[in-house]
Amino acid sequence: MSKVIVITGASSGIGEATAKKLADNGNQVVVSARREDRLKQLVAKIEAAGGQAVYHVTDVTKREEVADLAKFAVDTYGKIDVWMNNAGLMPQSTLDRYKIDEWDRMIDVNIKGVLYGIAAALPYMREQKSGHIINTSSVAGHAVHPGGSVYSATKFAVRVISEGLRQEEALAESNIRISVISPGAVATELPDTITDPDTKKRVDKLYEDFAIDAERVAAAVQYAVDAPADTAINEIVIRPTSQH
Ligand code: NDP
Repeated sequence: MSKVIVITGASSGIGEATAKKLADNGNQVVVSARREDRLKQLVAKIEAAGGQAVYHVTDVTKREEVADLAKFAVDTYGKIDVWMNNAGLMPQSTLDRYKIDEWDRMIDVNIKGVLYGIAAALPYMREQKSGHIINTSSVAGHAVHPGGSVYSATKFAVRVISEGLRQEEALAESNIRISVISPGAVATELPDTITDPDTKKRVDKLYEDFAIDAERVAAAVQYAVDAPADTAINEIVIRPTSQH
């Protein structure tokens, strides 16, 4: 059955691959991010393949823009079946580099962006008495390594927020499902956000060695989306076979 699916951070990487896959499968997809040119290209590609998609430029650090995205989805397609909080960045560095602006940025996008997404989508889902919120965490939401403290903290937060939300009674009453997608190294533009040369070198090496394609993660999201309504896929951890 066709679903209306909103994806943040859909201008590249995992969000883009997921939008394509879900649109290919007959869903109506609303893609959002800040780079309008990339969103336009994505919508054109989806339409050329016979799928349905629209875009809405949204900065997830701006609460009103995220609320507008939800309204836009409902105005366009009439409902929101799935909302994927996927936008994120990973400017990793050891804390002794004092990249405090980057710490702020990760907290704003990776945590507050997810919360704003939940606040935007939930009222519609409660009204509909159905819905599915998917939050992108990471294997870094399960473990921390030097240089990854703040990024991991944001991804741990995504898992905790998701689990707390899942346990809220009002959600079960409204048939709302929560899923977390926790990937390992995936070949995307994510490492480009790293400005610390030492960390960049280490992460680039790791990605060169074994990063998997974003399409693999898209397939995992599709599995969660397609699960029968009485079944919630609460978390999928997916990583390259050779990644510890
Ligand atoms: P990309 O860098 O390719 O994609 C990140 C997306 O987030 C882009 O579409 C970007 O769009 C968007 N974004 C960044 N800042 C904002 C903002 N302020 N407002 C709206 N959108 C924003 O990386 P990935 O596809 O890898 O990342 C997607 C998610 O997957 C992230 O949450 C990341 O942490 C997570 N992840 C990735 C892994 C990997 O190895 N690649 C592993 C584990 C988790 P734009 O710049 O146009 O706004």
